[in-house]
Amino acid sequence: MFAPFYAAIADISATIRRHRDRLGRPVIGVLPAYFPPELIHAAGGYPVQLWGAGVAIDHAEAYLQPYCCSVARSVLELEMRGRAALIQAYVFTSLCDTLINLRELYRRLFDKPILGLSIPVTQTEQGRHTFLAGAAETIMKGLEAVTGRSVSPENLRASAGQFGRVRSLQRELYRLRRERPGGIKNADFHVVIKAGFFLPVDEYGRLLENLLTGLVSIDPPTGRRPRLVLSGMVFEPLDAQRLFDEIGADVVDDDFASGWRTVSKASLPVDDPVEGIAEYVFGGAPCCCIHHPGKDRHDYLVKKVRDAGADGLVFWYVKFCEPDAFDRPQLLARLKQEGIPATMVEIDLSMKSVESLRTRIQAFCEMIGGLEI
Ligand code: SF4
Repeated sequence: MFAPFYAAIADISATIRRHRDRLGRPVIGVLPAYFPPELIHAAGGYPVQLWGAGVAIDHAEAYLQPYCCSVARSVLELEMRGRAALIQAYVFTSLCDTLINLRELYRRLFDKPILGLSIPVTQTEQGRHTFLAGAAETIMKGLEAVTGRSVSPENLRASAGQFGRVRSLQRELYRLRRERPGGIKNADFHVVIKAGFFLPVDEYGRLLENLLTGLVSIDPPTGRRPRLVLSGMVFEPLDAQRLFDEIGADVVDDDFASGWRTVSKASLPVDDPVEGIAEYVFGGAPCCCIHHPGKDRHDYLVKKVRDAGADGLVFWYVKFCEPDAFDRPQLLARLKQEGIPATMVEIDLSMKSVESLRTRIQAFCEMIGGLEI
């Protein structure tokens, strides 16, 4: 059931090349979130999402210091090594200082169109709307210049429908994982989500539909194993996600920016594109990178753990993501206050061995109980 998703990420360049040639669309890289991919698609592009890579950092060292996050360092490394040659243009959002600096580095270092969507930090909807009105126009013109095609209302509606449908299928997969703990292996689950970063929306949607049909009859393992929620920016490295399956713990939900925070976004509203972009960026689950006075991450995370029937939460910290680190002390304090056990593991996307994480996760699962040893 999961083989097509594993195949899609086994050789990512080959996957992208094959579909680019089939579709005849220019490949546009999204670095890394929360730019609506439907805008790229409606402009005739082929959006791919870059959430970092497990490469050794060598060339990027010259421009990004070791205490920059490994998401930024690894994507820069890919471009500097010539391993991102298929990507014709990049779109950046302004999620954090690192990404803003990275965008300017790309402009200086590479001869590719670099577009930027700055996400406003304002207290009011009106403020967001005013700011995004100008930003949206610039970004649409930039996309049209890259693809050579204009964005018609019909194309935008069709693309919004396709991407909205895919996210609703992904939410169905999340529901199954929550309701049948252990029925879907943690590594398989994340491979499915990751394949969506690189497959075209039509192909990915078809694969998801087939998968969900096959999963209807899955039975969860018998017995009660430790149930966990994971929280962080990215779920990589996948080898580390496999540890939960090997240890015998069930991940029942997550709060990853590359996972639920993106999957939870509703269909892009298209009647008013500016309003649509605002709703997309500020909608869905709260994020440490998006200032939204109306959304409280503390209440949200507590509810997520309770709704999933989880026994504890693991913060999956990609070194050295500042927004994630800034939120964590208060979140930990709140979880403790609520009697929810929580721990943190530190990861680097280029880490060669994940064995050190095994001990920590295992110890945490033993502490919260239910681990068969
Ligand atoms: S992981 Fe954190 S620091 Fe790195 S690009 Fe994402 S938000 Fe910025």
